[in-house]
Amino acid sequence: MTRRSITDADVQRQRVLCRVDFNVPLRDGAIQDDSRIRAAVSTIEWLVSHGARVILCSHLGRPKGKVVDDLRLKPVADRLADLLGIPVTSLEAITGPDVTGAVGSMADSEVVLLENLRFDPREETNDPSLARELADLADLYVNDAFGAAHRAHASTEGVTHLIPAYIGLLMRAEIEALTKLLTGPEHPFVAIVGGAKVSDKMGVLENLLPRVDTVLIGGGMANTFLLAQGVEVGTSLIEADLVTTASGLIAAAQAQGVEIGLPTDVVVARSIDASAGDQVHIDSIGDDAAIFDIGSETAAQYADVIAGARTVLWNGPLGVAENPAFAEGTATVARAVAAADGYTVIGGGDSVAAIQQLDLASRIDHISTGGGASLEFLEGKTLPGIAAIPEAE
Ligand code: ADP
Ligand code: MG
Repeated sequence: MTRRSITDADVQRQRVLCRVDFNVPLRDGAIQDDSRIRAAVSTIEWLVSHGARVILCSHLGRPKGKVVDDLRLKPVADRLADLLGIPVTSLEAITGPDVTGAVGSMADSEVVLLENLRFDPREETNDPSLARELADLADLYVNDAFGAAHRAHASTEGVTHLIPAYIGLLMRAEIEALTKLLTGPEHPFVAIVGGAKVSDKMGVLENLLPRVDTVLIGGGMANTFLLAQGVEVGTSLIEADLVTTASGLIAAAQAQGVEIGLPTDVVVARSIDASAGDQVHIDSIGDDAAIFDIGSETAAQYADVIAGARTVLWNGPLGVAENPAFAEGTATVARAVAAADGYTVIGGGDSVAAIQQLDLASRIDHISTGGGASLEFLEGKTLPGIAAIPEAE
């Protein structure tokens, strides 16, 4: 199913309300990582070059329906202007007379950015009155905010019922890449799933099982699987209530002929802040030790499997990669994914941060900008922000 996208629209002279995901990490008013702004540039440039009057809108952080000065979008507008090489007018309200006035006097190919959508409590409740005010600013609506597509908010869902709605180029690329994994991937298809918790990723594992050849498990979630296999994991992070679920998934994988990779050796320490860990076999984890990374033997095995894959999905670090003492497993896997000949996709904020830190992002076929949204997509759920856009003719 293909959604109607901006390339199907005639945007010349039209006022286009474009929902983007400018939810960037800020510290003391400075943007820490502008990847999300960069990711939106191609759609904005397309609209500008086709003579649209571009009205951008986004949320930033969690102001919970109130104006929070530190979460104003002005620094984002300034960064975007640098990236585009044209002015971006930052408005100090979302809707209302000043915004209507500013939008009314826009020329073709001009760009404005509305204030943080979540300053208005009606955004997250998908209040029809806010959707109406947003729709009244524009002739057309474009959703390019994949990272917010799993939320049915006024700017992602409500507004689509009021003016003709399309997806943007980033949204289209995200949908195409993730759909390729779920529908007709080339085999062998290897999924590497890590991160802190099984509960976050169980739905993804279950939905991927019929589609993949191998699942390589690492990170905190591997501990619960090891426990399910009878391994003594000391003080490692585990989810006791999911041990049975983990056993069930291993059994289901066996029944379907899917290989499940679990660590055979690990890096353990007394504390997550330790400056070094010990490499041990999984049979020798002390009572007072916790697993913080996969071991070097496991990492090398995982890298071999990845090298032979035609399709690779990686979600979640293999260890506590924020601490250099526990970052090696993640780095080895990251290098293997970057070197793989197959089609490679990475999703999840922490895994994406890891690949960027290693300067390997350019060697990945698709890096998803949506953490929660890409997980829900891979779980096979319908994302309201996508479902609300009509199909292409
Ligand atoms: P992503 O953002 O890529 O989806 P997650 O948010 O699911 O990844 O998981 C990342 C977190 O998992 C990191 O904060 C990392 O420290 C934690 N983590 C990874 N391995 C372990 C482990 N063995 N024990 C505890 N925490 C872990
Ligand atoms: Mg994360």
